[in-house]
Amino acid sequence: MKKYDIVFIGGGPSGYTGALRARDLGFSALLIEKSKVGGVCLQLGCIPTKALLASASLIDKITRAVQFGLEVRLDTPHKLWKISEKKDVIVNELTQGLIQTLKRKGVEILQGEASFKGPHVLTVKGENGAEEIEGQVIVIATGSRPQELPGIPFNHTNILSSDDMLTLREVPKDLAIIGGGVIGCEFASLFAVLGSKVSIVEMLPQILPLSDKDIAKRLEVLFKRRGIQVFTEKKMEKLSSDGAVLSLLLTGGERVSCDKMLISVGRRRNVENLGLENVDINVDKGTILVNGFLETSVAGVYAVGDVIGSPQLAHVAQAEAICVVDNLRRERRAMNYRGWPNTVFTHPEVASAGLSKEEAEKAGYEVEESRCLFGALGKSHVERETDGIAKLVFDRKTDKLLGGHIIGENASDLIAEISLGIRLGAKREDLVNTMHAHPTFSEVIWEASRNI
Ligand SMILES: Cc1cc2nc3c(=O)[nH]c(=O)nc-3n(C[C@H](O)[C@H](O)[C@H](O)COP(=O)(O)OP(=O)(O)OC[C@H]3O[C@@H](n4cnc5c(N)ncnc54)[C@H](O)[C@@H]3O)c2cc1C
Repeated sequence: MKKYDIVFIGGGPSGYTGALRARDLGFSALLIEKSKVGGVCLQLGCIPTKALLASASLIDKITRAVQFGLEVRLDTPHKLWKISEKKDVIVNELTQGLIQTLKRKGVEILQGEASFKGPHVLTVKGENGAEEIEGQVIVIATGSRPQELPGIPFNHTNILSSDDMLTLREVPKDLAIIGGGVIGCEFASLFAVLGSKVSIVEMLPQILPLSDKDIAKRLEVLFKRRGIQVFTEKKMEKLSSDGAVLSLLLTGGERVSCDKMLISVGRRRNVENLGLENVDINVDKGTILVNGFLETSVAGVYAVGDVIGSPQLAHVAQAEAICVVDNLRRERRAMNYRGWPNTVFTHPEVASAGLSKEEAEKAGYEVEESRCLFGALGKSHVERETDGIAKLVFDRKTDKLLGGHIIGENASDLIAEISLGIRLGAKREDLVNTMHAHPTFSEVIWEASRNI
């Protein structure tokens, strides 16, 4: 039986980042993957969606070329299959690059499906049969998959998951999206630009339910301006089908018809078929339970990434994997999520870190909020991207930065400063006294910090 210092089950961002870190620290490392290295993020999530959104962003810019003094026309309708081919090239290039990096660093990759035989022994079933592997430390990094609506399974033709959306070759005429969270909003933004008539149905009072209220409202307004229908506090009560057309009856009696429907109501963690019951690893409602050090109920077995209860984001998954590996070489430190950035790649982008005003008040802070509109920046006018706002939340007593919430161009990059500020305990004067290059979008943080 082959033995390793550390074995990762799952080759997504948490698995491959942890395995690379393990090699950097001198451990022997094995990465077991049943499908493709890169996981959801590289194969079906972050990268392919952002590749499509990059094409959409260019379409949007070309459509607005006149604002830049240019006369340029686009061939329409857009050929989604062509845009998709470009996306596949990017995904393949990055996958090959990742495999090479793993090999160069000495990470062993084993193709197959792993399950626990004992606390430190895995059975891996691959094309050439089953083999047993021993890991002194085992990290479960098996990720998640799209969640179905009860009674409405994905049929992969017109009732679609986010995975299916990436295989579409034609732009749907009418696209209904059930669930206005991050994934739903990103696909809405994308397909509205490509020419679909998009409707979002969200059962909570706002789209992006985890985002700052004002910012989510602003996105809704901008979506509606782009022709996206947004139904909040509505559920799909009934679904009927007339051949190729789906008809949705919403709470209150409104009807939405579509040729494709995306169900984006969350993700199920991959805890099945892992033999967790063989080793008494505690699972609650489909989530692997871990302590502050990300250790499961079995000593030496950890779980990281989408499969545990933390925010389902690639960078969170990566940070968790690094925490586990680093703890094998130093005095153990609990995973520190402070300042984690949440990003939504709509147009315009949405990003946040830390506490919202309401959360800070609930936590007992005396709060001071400062704002700046993107329209106040020279850069926004140059780039013709004036829609947006940045809100900073400070503790009035200590002047410390508690949170930042942004909707606007490049919000996903701008939020890094807020994350760092929160982690370093930055005060308002630290932001004010830091020179921000002019003209850049980053000035929105500087201006907001100065607006008392
Ligand atoms: C449409 C979409 C867009 C997204 N966009 C973003 C984004 O822009 N930014 C962001 O931060 N996050 C984004 N995410 C979320 C991000 O993809 C996940 O948070 C991230 O992939 C989680 O990483 P992971 O390593 O935990 O798991 P995964 O990436 O899910 O990888 C788990 C891997 O484990 C393998 N596996 C499962 N069971 C076994 C087994 N028994 N044996 C062997 N292998 C197994 C799977 O095949 C898979 O490859 C997006 C997700 C989706 C669906």
